[in-house]
Amino acid sequence: MTTFSSLDLSDSLLRAIKEQGYDKPTPIQAQGIPAVLKGNDIMAAAQTGTGKTASFTLPLLHRLSQGRKAGANQVRALVLTPTRELAAQVEASITTYGKYLPLTSTVVFGGVKINPQMMRLRRGVDILVATPGRLLDLYSKNALRFDHLEVLVLDEADRMLDMGFIHDIRKIIALLPRRRQNLLFSATFSGKIRSLAEGLLHQPVTIEVSPRNTTAKTVKQAVFEVDKSQKTALLSHLVRNNNWQQVLVFMRTKHGANRLVKRLDNDGIRASAIHGNKSQGARTRALADFKTGKVRVLVATDIAARGIDIVELPHVVNFELPNISEDYIHRIGRTGRAGSTGEAVSLVCADESKQLRDIERLIKTLLTRKLIDGFEPVHSLPESKLDLRPHRPKKPKKPKVAHRDGQRRPSGKPKINSNKKNWSKNKTHSKKT
Ligand code: AMP
Repeated sequence: MTTFSSLDLSDSLLRAIKEQGYDKPTPIQAQGIPAVLKGNDIMAAAQTGTGKTASFTLPLLHRLSQGRKAGANQVRALVLTPTRELAAQVEASITTYGKYLPLTSTVVFGGVKINPQMMRLRRGVDILVATPGRLLDLYSKNALRFDHLEVLVLDEADRMLDMGFIHDIRKIIALLPRRRQNLLFSATFSGKIRSLAEGLLHQPVTIEVSPRNTTAKTVKQAVFEVDKSQKTALLSHLVRNNNWQQVLVFMRTKHGANRLVKRLDNDGIRASAIHGNKSQGARTRALADFKTGKVRVLVATDIAARGIDIVELPHVVNFELPNISEDYIHRIGRTGRAGSTGEAVSLVCADESKQLRDIERLIKTLLTRKLIDGFEPVHSLPESKLDLRPHRPKKPKKPKVAHRDGQRRPSGKPKINSNKKNWSKNKTHSKKT
C-alpha cells in the first residue's frame, strides 16, 4: 500500500497533509506524485473528486521549494483553469498544502479589477493560478513574465476547450519557455484534447484513474419518466417526500433556471440559481446559502456548475438532460464524491429520448427507469436499446463570450470545503454493468 510518507514529499508537506486528515494517497496521487517529482510530463484522465488537485499541487510545491525564488513579475509555475471557481479552489489547496513552505502563490481571473492583481504580481510569484483570458490581459499589460517558468498545468483541459479557450491556451503556450514540465488533466479525452496534448507534452506518463467515459460507481442513477409539464411538480414532490435537504438541479438554460427557482419558491421550497447572468457576488452567496442549508435546492446551468465543490453532495437532479452527453458525466460527478454514495436522478420526457440514448451509449449502460405514482406520463418515453457503436462526441456550440465564466463577471472567493474522508473506502472507478 502506498503511503504519503513513501512518496518522497518533504516533511513540511507531510505535516500539512496530516492536518487535512488524509491517511493515504488516492490512486491518482499514488501514480501522479512520483511522476511529477521525477520531472515527467503527465497526461491524466481524472474527474473532480478523485483527489487530482493534490496530485499536482503537492509535487509542484515540493519541486518549487527546492529552486530559486521568483524574480519581479516572474512566475515559476502556472496553473490554468477554465473557471474562476476552480481557480480559487486550486489556489486554496496550494495555500493549504504549502502552509509550511516559504512559497508564494496567487490567483487571477476576470470580472474583477485588474490593478490589485497587477500589484500582487509585482514581486513575482512561485505559483500563479489563472483563467486564460485574464492571464493574457495581464501579460499584455506587462504585469507578468515567464522567463523562469518551470511548470505548466492545464486543469480540466476538456472544459477549457468546451468553453472556447483553445486560442487563448495556444497563445499562452507560445509565451512560455520551451523547456518546461507540462501536466495536463482532463475528465475526458476527446480528439481535440489529444491533439492539444500531442503538441504540448513530451513523452508523457499517462494516468487514468477513472476509465474514460464511464461514471463513478458510487453514484446511483435513475431515470424518472415524466411529462414535461409535470417536471416541476415532480421535483417538488421528490424533495418533499424524500426529505431531500440539499439538491443540485441542472437546467439547460439560464431562463429555465430562473423560472424553476420562482416556481419552487412559490411552492415553499427555498431555491437559488447560479448561472452566467448572475454576478459573482450572487453566485458566491447562493453557493454559501446552499452549503449552510439555508437554500435547499440550487439550480445551475452546466457552465456555472463547473468547479463547484460541495463535499458529499447527496442528490443531483437533471431537470433536463444535457445536449452534450459528456455533460451528463460531469453533472453526476457532483454527487457521490470522495467515497460517499450519491444519487443522480434524471427527469426525462418523451422529447428527450435522443439525449437519453446518447448518454446511455456514452456510459455503456441502460439507465434504470422508474414511474412515480401520480406522475405517470401521458406521452411515453420510447424504450432504449443499448447502442454499442463507439460514441462520437458532439461538437459543442461555440460559446458566446458572455459564457466564459473565467473572464467576465465580478468575483469573490467561494468557500472551499476540505474533505477529510477516509479514502480506504475509496470509490473504485469501474464500468457500470
Ligand atoms: P479533487 O479531485 O482534487 O477535487 O479533490 C476532491 C476532494 O478530495 C477534495 O475535497 C480534497 O480535499 C479531498 N482529498 C484529496 N486527497 C485526499 C486524500 N488523499 N484523502 C482524503 N481526501 C482527499
